This record gives sequence, structure tokens and C-alpha cells, in this order.
Amino acid sequence: MNSTTRLSRPRFGERLKEQYYFFIRQIDETRVERLGIRAGMIEQYMPIRRERLNSGIEKKLALFDYAAEKELSALQDKFLPAEELFKKKYAQKEDALNKQYRLKFREYRQKLRRAEGVVDADNNLPGELAPESAKKVEVYEAELEAEKKRIIQKAADQFIKKETSGDRDGAEARSRWEERKKELAEERDRLKKGLEAKADAEYRIFAEHNEKRIARIKEKLNAERRKSEAVTTKSHTLVLPEDVALRLDGLCMYFGGLKAVDGLSFDVKKGEIFGLIGPNGSGKTTVFNCITQFYKPTSGEIWFNDRYGTTLRLNKYAVHNIIKTGIVRTFQNIELVAELTVLDNLLIAAHTQYHSGFISHMFFTPTLKRETEVLTPKALGILEEMKLLHLKDAYPVGMPYGVLKRIELARTLMADASLIILDEPAAGLNEKETEELTELLKQISREYEVTIFLVEHDMGLVMDICNHICAISFGKKLAYGVPKEIQESKDVQEAYLGVE
Ligand code: ADP
Ligand code: MG
Repeated sequence: MNSTTRLSRPRFGERLKEQYYFFIRQIDETRVERLGIRAGMIEQYMPIRRERLNSGIEKKLALFDYAAEKELSALQDKFLPAEELFKKKYAQKEDALNKQYRLKFREYRQKLRRAEGVVDADNNLPGELAPESAKKVEVYEAELEAEKKRIIQKAADQFIKKETSGDRDGAEARSRWEERKKELAEERDRLKKGLEAKADAEYRIFAEHNEKRIARIKEKLNAERRKSEAVTTKSHTLVLPEDVALRLDGLCMYFGGLKAVDGLSFDVKKGEIFGLIGPNGSGKTTVFNCITQFYKPTSGEIWFNDRYGTTLRLNKYAVHNIIKTGIVRTFQNIELVAELTVLDNLLIAAHTQYHSGFISHMFFTPTLKRETEVLTPKALGILEEMKLLHLKDAYPVGMPYGVLKRIELARTLMADASLIILDEPAAGLNEKETEELTELLKQISREYEVTIFLVEHDMGLVMDICNHICAISFGKKLAYGVPKEIQESKDVQEAYLGVE
């Protein structure tokens, strides 16, 4: 076994564990969400079920009423005086015939319209009939009406003859009708009560069952929540003071035998411009890479207060998820997409922060469209503040280095960062461009609620704009303080003079 495998093995395992926790947390989140939806759905279904049972009762009662009505009507026929009975029978027959004739009449209109040649796709007759046809309809209607009257009259006459021919004991028939009416009303009452009791019982069983189901789901939900909280909080119980944005606690990063960072601790205050300085090879970029989790620290902790005031242990984040915590970094070499306009470079940076991912970019889904609607004005606003608006439709290729730096800073602002970390932003800039960058960083710090973490080799820049500075040498802290204290520090002077 050589030294490389021995060294890489625990780190690989550690990384795998972090990935696993992250993965599990995401699964838990969707599971919790699904359980919540299910419980909500069951809850919402309960009144619907009650409503169904109620309408079932109504339907059964309506059937009963129909039969009772028919029975009572027949009983009533036995004692009604001939004149009233005739009126009743006439009305009944007319009602039935009207339904029949309406159909006949419709058919006739349809026939005429078809003869006129205008029928829509559903065989319906839209609009008015031609005058001739309208006349025919009128005639037909009158004919039907006369025919209807004749039929009704005949039917009613016949019925009366039949009903009133035999003996009609009015009083006895009436009391039978009245008695039956009372009986039926009582019967209906009993039926209603019975149906209601049955429905109540059915609903109670259903409700009990469902409440148990909901309780079970909620219990599961809470268990999932507790589990997922355990995963997130198991690793730490530390809460950073409110005014601290970032804390390095005993950070070590070893490359084999080389201690690139060796027990480094310091705090970065919220909203300040912080500078990490040191001679070449002192470990600045390594610190930077540890914060972004590009390197997994050999030991030591990195804590971060996110914009919601939650203290996160950065060590457990995968490098590609760091951006989700609100930390944005820029590289020493500028990373803009040459094929995209300046505006699109800003938009694409923001999209990675929001929901639409790779798939939506391929198919330009509605989510992406909505996001673009929201993000474009934001991007234009940032470009304006960075004095880049006139370049929004230009391609970054061939632009001056200072301009590219500005575009890249504008891009970091799109991600709603609460901490921006920059590795030697002044490297490669001339004096005038460095001055512009200084102004720009001051402006960003003033106008956006961000903390700026500067990794710098150039003492001039940090002395100008930093609130606090930490100077390191060989991965160890030399001095921490305000620019004046750093400038006057003997250790710092020696380190710089000693190396250069
Ligand atoms: P700075 O950014 O301050 O110039 P670096 O953090 O880049 O310093 O480097 C600090 C030390 O760590 C240097 O000696 C460098 O050679 C070493 N180093 C940096 N990265 C690695 C790596 N990936 N593997 C091995 N050694 C590294
Ligand atoms: Mg470096």
C-alpha cells in the first residue's frame, strides 16, 4: 500500500458520508412533502364523503315521495267531485302530452331546417328559420295544439265516465285517503331517521378510520422531520453570534507532509470587507478552496451564518451545493461563457440558483420562462449599477480584463449571495483598473447586503478597503486586526520582507 491510497482513503470515505447525508436529506424532504400532501387530501375528503351520504338519503326519500304521491293520488280520485277530478285528470294528461309534443315540434323544425340545407356539425339548427319555413312551423304548431286538446279532452272524459260510473262513497274514501296520508308521512319519517342513522354510523366508521390514517401519517411525518433534523443537526450544535458571517476554527489542510494550512482560526464579521493576506505560497488559495469545499479540510471546522440566520457547518456540504448556502466565489481566472451575451451570462448564473435545472434549459419550460421574466429586470438593474448596461448584448470575448472582472462581479450579485469570496481579484489589473475595482467593491458592500472575503497578495488593495485583515504565513496566523494594526505588525513586515 503506498502513501497516496492511505491518505486518500479516509477522505474518500468522509466525502461519501457527506454525499450520503445530503442525499438522504433530500429524499427526506420529498418524503415529508408527500406525506403532508396525503394527510391533507384525506382531511379534505371527509366533508365530501359526508355530502355524498347526505345526497344518498335525499335520493331515497325522493323515490319514496314519488311512490307515496302516486298512491295518494289514486285514493283521492275515489272521492273528488267529478268537476275537480276532470280538471286534475286534464292537467295530468296535458302535462304528459306536452312533453311528447315538444319533441315532435322540435323534430319538425329540424326537418325544415335540413331542407333549407343549414345544419351544424351536431345536427342542430342554429339561428332563425327562413320566413316560409317559419310560417309552416306556425301552422304545424296550431295543428298540434288542436290535436292535443282533442286527445286530452277524450282521455279525461273517458276517465271520468269510468271512475264515476260505480258507487262513490265520498266520505269513506276521503277518510281512507287521510289515514293513508298520515301513515305515509310517519313511514317517511321513520325511513328518514333510519337512513340518517345508517349514514351517521357509516360516516363514523369512515371518519374514525381516516382519523387514524391521518394520525399515522402525521406521526410518520413528525418522525421523518425529526430524523431529517437529526441528520442536519447531528453534526453540530454550535450557533454563531449574530454578527459573525464566517468562522474558521482550527482549520488544517495537509497535502501529504505539507501543512498548507495549519490550525487557522478567525471570524469574519457580517457585512464587512475582510482581507486574507500573505506572501506567495502561504496558503491563501488553499483556505479559499477549503471554504468552498473544493478541498475537504484535513481537520477543523468552517461555520457559516446564512441569510436566514442558520449556522451551517460547511464541512458537510458538497462543493456544488455551496452556492445554495449563499456563498458565491470567483476564480483567479475569469469564467464567463464566451458564447453568451453579457446579459445571458448573468441570467444563467441566477438560474442555477433557482428551480429550473438542466432539463428546463434544454426544453425552455414554462418554469424557466417565468424565471426569466423575473430575473431579466434584476440582471438589467445590476448591470446598470455596475456601469455595464451598454454592454448587455455584447459578447465577453476580447473585452478588457477590468470589464470582465466587473461582469463577473455582476454575475455573483445575481445569485443573491450573502458572502462573496474573491481570490486575488486585482491580479492582472493595471493601477487604474485596480482603483476601479476598489471603488466597485466598496459600492457592492454599501448597496448589497453582502460580506466580502478578499484573498489578496497585493497589500495596497486590502489596506484601502478592508475592515479587518488576517495575515498568514506558512498556513499559520501572523496577525489579525484593522489595516493599521496589520501594517504596523512586525511579524507581517518580516514575513513579507523575508519571502520577497
Ligand atoms: P497562496 O494562494 O497563498 O499562494 P496556496 O494555497 O496556493 O498559496 O499554496 C500553499 C501551499 O500548498 C503551497 O506550498 C502549495 O504548493 C501547496 N499546495 C496547494 N495546493 C496543493 C495541492 N492540491 N496539492 C499539493 N500541494 C498543494
Ligand atoms: Mg493563490
